[in-house]
Amino acid sequence: MVKYVYLFSEGNGSMKELLGGKGANLAEMTNLGMPVPQGFTITTEACTKYYEDGEKISSEIEEEIYEYLKKMEAITGKNFGDVNNPLLVSVRSGARASMPGMMDTILNLGLNDEVVVGLANLTNNERFAYDSYRRFIQMYSDVVMELPKKRFEVIIDEIKEKKGVKLDTELDTDDLREMVKIFKAFYKQELGSEFPTDPREQLMGAVRAVFRSWNNERAIYYRRMNDIPASWGTAVNVQAMVFGNMGDDSGTGVAFTRDPATGNKNLYGEFLMNAQGEDVVAGVRTPQPIAQLKETMPAIYEQFANIANSLEKHYRDMQDMEFTIEKGKLYMLQTRNGKRTAAAALKVACDLVDEGMITKEQALIMVDPKQLDALLHPQFDAAAIKAATPAGSALPASPGAACGRVAFTAQEAIEVSKTGEPVILVRLETSPEDIEGMHVSQGILTVRGGMTSHAAVVARGMGTCCVSGCGEISINDADHSFTLAGKTVKGGEFISLDGSTGKIYLEKIPTVEATISGYFGRFMGWTDEVRSLVVRTNADTPNDAKQAFGFGAQGIGLCRTEHMFFEGERIAAMREMIVSKTVDQRISALKKLLPMQQGDFEALYEAMEGNPVTIRLLDPPLHEFLPTDEEDIKALAAEMNLTVADIKAVITELHEFNPMMGHRGCRLAVSYPEIAQMQATAIIQAAIAVIKRTGMSVVPEIMIPLIGDINELKYVKNIITSTADEIIAKSGVELAYHVGTMIEIPRAAIIADEIAKEAEFFSFGTNDLTQMTFGFSRDDAGKFLDDYYSKKIFESDPFAKLDQNGVGKLVEMAVKLGRSTRPDIKLGICGEHGGDPSSVEFCHRIGLSYVSCSPFRVPIARLAAAQAQIKFPR
Ligand code: PEP
Ligand code: MG
Repeated sequence: MVKYVYLFSEGNGSMKELLGGKGANLAEMTNLGMPVPQGFTITTEACTKYYEDGEKISSEIEEEIYEYLKKMEAITGKNFGDVNNPLLVSVRSGARASMPGMMDTILNLGLNDEVVVGLANLTNNERFAYDSYRRFIQMYSDVVMELPKKRFEVIIDEIKEKKGVKLDTELDTDDLREMVKIFKAFYKQELGSEFPTDPREQLMGAVRAVFRSWNNERAIYYRRMNDIPASWGTAVNVQAMVFGNMGDDSGTGVAFTRDPATGNKNLYGEFLMNAQGEDVVAGVRTPQPIAQLKETMPAIYEQFANIANSLEKHYRDMQDMEFTIEKGKLYMLQTRNGKRTAAAALKVACDLVDEGMITKEQALIMVDPKQLDALLHPQFDAAAIKAATPAGSALPASPGAACGRVAFTAQEAIEVSKTGEPVILVRLETSPEDIEGMHVSQGILTVRGGMTSHAAVVARGMGTCCVSGCGEISINDADHSFTLAGKTVKGGEFISLDGSTGKIYLEKIPTVEATISGYFGRFMGWTDEVRSLVVRTNADTPNDAKQAFGFGAQGIGLCRTEHMFFEGERIAAMREMIVSKTVDQRISALKKLLPMQQGDFEALYEAMEGNPVTIRLLDPPLHEFLPTDEEDIKALAAEMNLTVADIKAVITELHEFNPMMGHRGCRLAVSYPEIAQMQATAIIQAAIAVIKRTGMSVVPEIMIPLIGDINELKYVKNIITSTADEIIAKSGVELAYHVGTMIEIPRAAIIADEIAKEAEFFSFGTNDLTQMTFGFSRDDAGKFLDDYYSKKIFESDPFAKLDQNGVGKLVEMAVKLGRSTRPDIKLGICGEHGGDPSSVEFCHRIGLSYVSCSPFRVPIARLAAAQAQIKFPR
């Protein structure tokens, strides 16, 4: 028979999978002889079974819970529902990974009209008893019966108004007794049944509600953000209540063994005498700093400080603890590894190593790679953000905080930025034409688009804050404004964005530059000692490349050359090339582009100081470069001596129904070989120039996008090698270069053994590979994926976190096939997944040699790669 319930004394700290974090830690503290109010834990397996059984608690589990309730009564010497000696319990969630505040909790369970009298007698405090009772009815109705707490607040306000008082604390026992009556009548009126008086029925209702809360929207969202699988489920902890509001010898508090904001080593926290936990949270009274407890109750303080110290030593990590003092006796209600800021995480990790508590490897495992991001971008001023309320939220597409004046077009953004003011670019969606406007903006907000939409990818590359896909926004072109949550914001007004959470604020919130403390460098040094996976960067400009090199990138894994074509004169030459009617016209336009490309490549090679640089040939559909507004069309026509009608005809001709599966990638080189020729020339001439100028070694890797057939690859490769070999031969410089391909079309993965005969390296383009494997448009999927999460079809965004079962299987297969024909083939990934920790771990496990990601994710990938090596040594 499966055991679904454990007394705290039956478990231990290593049973987190079964008992959840809270349950395992309560068991561990009990085993350590610490003063823990006793109780039992209903396992995560019971939660899984609850869902398997169609959201029902089986009679077998119910029986077991009652059996443990009896044991708990024996241990505490109090009885459930006993008027003279009542046992009251708290019922709390507790998953394997801590999910603070995401799931439900019920306190004071076991009260009814009789027991409340007993509690009043026992505690000699009638007001406290009735206050506990009315809070319990409110909490139970809200959490178990889904009758919102707010509706009870309305009743409380009415009672206060009638009495002419402002604060809850001004209500006396009679008022509270009356409130209980009204609450119960309201409950019956709304739900059609009496408030349950049987504590056992209350208990089962609460357990069911906690299981159910595993799948509330908040929890689902939190799991998606933190890579927690839905299959884990939550445990339920039933623990005897202790009361901190029994007089001046009672109290309650929370404390950390180190300061969670800075990592400084000192007991940090606060407490309130004669209060329950709720009062601390509600902010009715101001808590005192924990150091003050030394004065108030010296013996208790010393006991608590000793316990805190031994818990930290025991867990070898900073602890976050809750405690209650009941009539001069200390109780520990919970302990867990404390959440901390990124800066604190690094300091604590380094300090614990220096204190000899943990190894470097353990320190590396302790820090969440995603958290490092916070150290690299501007942040909101802590006090200001606390006081602000978001008007909406959307996808956290590129992290950091931004505050600026609203601009609706790239041009407007450029104009605002020229005045020295910060800008937030608000667009329906962005297109490559917006690049300059995006560059000058502090933040980007789009109505449409997912995590790999143009705006998201480009913003992450630039390290600019971006919130994308906010469908609730309507842009009103006519009066130059947008509306969100009923509020209208005009162009030029201030808004603020949090690209790390996706929150949108319609107000000015000051930001501060993030500072990188010395611990950061030391910690990152350890990641490099440990990892075997190389980390490169996706960089398109010399600036990005320098930034990434500074963050530790060991080369460029992807230079999207098309991003170099949008600035100033370049776009004009590019457009000229596209509208060319003859090969000669095209070649003459390409000649204008050649020196600009070559200059950029030289700067990229130099920024990378001898590390490999992968440059990809032109990839996107050509129409992306064409002008869309009338003015630009006129200008292009004038420049090229053509009519507006001519240009419009070309635009119409280039229109595609499905451009992402259209005339792009290597297909462009097939139609217009002279483009590939020009790019190969620029890549090779730049390498030769840098070698001659600096003597530094340069190894260009030329990458062909969107290959699906071996003959495509042969055709394009031939253009590259014949161009390159001729230039090298003439130059007299010794230069090795490599030609490889992206694997981003499922067919290429399937025939990877053939492809590898021609390709010296594979780089997995998992953005397109995900798009084409799922058949989800990467630019449109954001619109419907939310429905997939809420309906539990998907747990996460496959464009952000690699779908290991499907897309990953293709990657793994291509790795094996590729190696079967070319054992020393170089393998990497350059899709957005290259900066996602769980995807990095996958890449490590299947034996890729490098991951490549946007500059600001390089440190994240370095840490994720180190953690992968520690967990799966290779
Ligand atoms: C990809 O498809 O994964 C890739 C890196 O290329 P892009 O995002 O430029 O299509
Ligand atoms: Mg691609």
